[in-house]
Amino acid sequence: MTIQFPFDNSYATLPANFFARVAPTPVVAPQLIKLNRPLAAQLGIDADWLESPEGVEVLAGTRVPDGADPIAMAYAGHQFGHFTAQLGDGRAILLGEVVDRDGVRRDIQLKGSGPTPFSRRGDGRAALGPVIREYIVSEAMFALGIPTTRSLAAVITGERVQRETMLPGAVLTRIAASHIRVGTFQFFAAREDIVALKHLADHVIARHYPDAARAEHPYRALLDGVIARQARLVARWLLVGFIHGVMNTDNSSVSGETIDYGPCAFMDDYDPAKVFSSIDEQGRYAYANQPRITLWNLTRFAETLLPLLDADQNAAIEIAKASLAEFSEIFDTAYQAGLRQKLGLFTAQPDDGVLAQDLLAAMAANQADFTLTFRGLGAAELDSAGDAAVRAQFTDPAVWDAWAIQWRARLALEPQDAATRHTAMQAVNPAFIPRNHRVEAVIQAALTGDYAPFEALLAVLARPFEDQPDRADYADPPLLHERVSQTFCGT
Ligand code: AMP
Ligand code: MG
Repeated sequence: MTIQFPFDNSYATLPANFFARVAPTPVVAPQLIKLNRPLAAQLGIDADWLESPEGVEVLAGTRVPDGADPIAMAYAGHQFGHFTAQLGDGRAILLGEVVDRDGVRRDIQLKGSGPTPFSRRGDGRAALGPVIREYIVSEAMFALGIPTTRSLAAVITGERVQRETMLPGAVLTRIAASHIRVGTFQFFAAREDIVALKHLADHVIARHYPDAARAEHPYRALLDGVIARQARLVARWLLVGFIHGVMNTDNSSVSGETIDYGPCAFMDDYDPAKVFSSIDEQGRYAYANQPRITLWNLTRFAETLLPLLDADQNAAIEIAKASLAEFSEIFDTAYQAGLRQKLGLFTAQPDDGVLAQDLLAAMAANQADFTLTFRGLGAAELDSAGDAAVRAQFTDPAVWDAWAIQWRARLALEPQDAATRHTAMQAVNPAFIPRNHRVEAVIQAALTGDYAPFEALLAVLARPFEDQPDRADYADPPLLHERVSQTFCGT
């Protein structure tokens, strides 16, 4: 067989306690349901070959490609605040890494590819619904410009998996800058294995934070780097109405990508307390709690690095505290800048934050749709029809009118002309997000073997900032009977 994946594996060369060597489990009747051809090209993999029977067998885990070194990664993690010293890839297997067209190293991982030594009581498999949800939402996040793992392919296995009912089994091929998590550091910290921690930190610095290697204190620079990327990431989530749903430390990537799409969802009407996940009973991972939880996770990360920050523990704690103290400002700066842009303000004035908060408060009190309201601001600024459309988002339109007077007074201070501003606003306020009811409908159709709605939704979400007049219904919020109030992780 010729070499189809240009593998260049680095994680598998780390010490043996970092992972378990394990091959994916073959499946009965693999069938490709979606291949991401542009992403295959980006990774230097021949898309036509991936669609061939041999390629599909690789994507299903039935055939191990040349150059792969399949492993399940070890990690620990705090799940809903409770620590488990051993989690690990229980249903995912890293085939290996490739260096993509831009010189970026990327993991190629199969998710749902059979049991591993970390499976505990799980079957190592994934059901079709969660695979489709992850495919759609991760690719939507990519198109929105938000750091994320990506989806190369989805296959069905021809086997059934037992969940609450019997469901079609599926495998997702996930692409990530790496699958190293806060929980990976916790795995070694819990074992007080400082040699391994140092090894892991050096690997992460070389791979994700090369500037830190040249810093005076590389491990402190690593901590600062992870804090900055995570702070900016969660700001991006808030700015598009995204709720991750399971921000456990094992689902928090040190590269700063969004990872592990489970019961995630975008909200329709704006509600800071919004929770979709059926298992998040306390609202720990509610929309507006996400920055606080990110800082909590980063604090767990900083704890694992203490032995590397300074030989003296008290000194190490002071360093970690100083770094963590930067989080709020990095987050606020990113979030406020993003909000300003959403309002069409491309210069800064002291009261911009208040203006934005006033709008959000009005939206929350008036069940305004998050995405349509911000998208509508661009049009509201241009003409009265646009204004009427946003106004209609508010149960009490007078609230909008009052806010709009303040907003227009502030816009008058902007140097840009209206047309330039309108273009800039449409580039930050998406028209299309993966609305929950659309995702659910796609999954229901797929369960009957109809993948056309899946393709249609992906095509719309690939261009979220463009008006697509023939697809305008994809921008609509759910009708009352279409509303999906809960999402499930389906593991
Ligand atoms: P999650 O919160 O979905 O990222 O998963 C948490 C942990 O449970 C990870 O260690 C997963 O590998 C493991 N896990 C989830 N689903 C399964 C499954 N079906 N079989 C084995 N392990 C699983
Ligand atoms: Mg996970």
